Amino acid sequence: MAYVITAKCVDVMDRSCLTQCPVDCISQGERMLYIDPESCIDCGACEAACPTLAIGWEPTLTDEQRPFADINSEFFTSGIAEGADHPVIAALPRA
Ligand code: SF4
Repeated sequence: MAYVITAKCVDVMDRSCLTQCPVDCISQGERMLYIDPESCIDCGACEAACPTLAIGWEPTLTDEQRPFADINSEFFTSGIAEGADHPVIAALPRA
């Protein structure tokens, strides 16, 4: 299990979570941030820091948030470069 960054981060990217993570497992795409579930230690510091409530613990995600568990994980397993986004996020309409 891990913490997961969800839709409320898209096109916001407040970045408060970055300085809170003790294991430096949050990476930046172009439109949102992503947590590496293989490195996350479930401390919850990022969730508390996020002003848009974009971060949740995987077992407690809503049905709407649940696809983001794979989106966060695949950002790392697919070798997506820092500064780019998972294809699902890149394809979202911009506000
Ligand atoms: Fe980092 Fe802790 Fe958030 Fe995991 S839960 S991403 S270890 S701050």
